Amino acid sequence: MGYTHELDDGDQHEGWIAMTYADGRISGGTSCAAGHYLDGYTYLPGDPNDPRTWGQIDPIYLRPNSEITGWLPRCACGWLGIETPVIEPNDQWREPAEDQEHLIMDQWRLHLRDAIPGAHPMLQLSAPTSNL
Ligand SMILES: [Zn+2]
Repeated sequence: MGYTHELDDGDQHEGWIAMTYADGRISGGTSCAAGHYLDGYTYLPGDPNDPRTWGQIDPIYLRPNSEITGWLPRCACGWLGIETPVIEPNDQWREPAEDQEHLIMDQWRLHLRDAIPGAHPMLQLSAPTSNL
């Protein structure tokens, strides 16, 4: 899920939640049913005239959902926030609870406040709805 803002800065800042893994790698924002692709993924060589082989991401970059150890906010400008660890690991689809997601993206909103002069009045932080 990506977050954008309403300021006219050429869309240099788009935020989203990246997955983190035990080896310190993070996801690159592309996923499929089996998991997420690591940041820096590359494509397999293929035939541009054959849609079955062209544009396929190299599967060595695919990490299953069960290996997600946390989440962090990141921005298209290269900024990375602080990791929120997975508290109750299981083999299910791992994604932050709604309250966690709001807090994670509040980091990104604070990043915007620092990165974009005059952004303060337009950004609302999430109100906590439970004790985490
Ligand atoms: Zn940014």
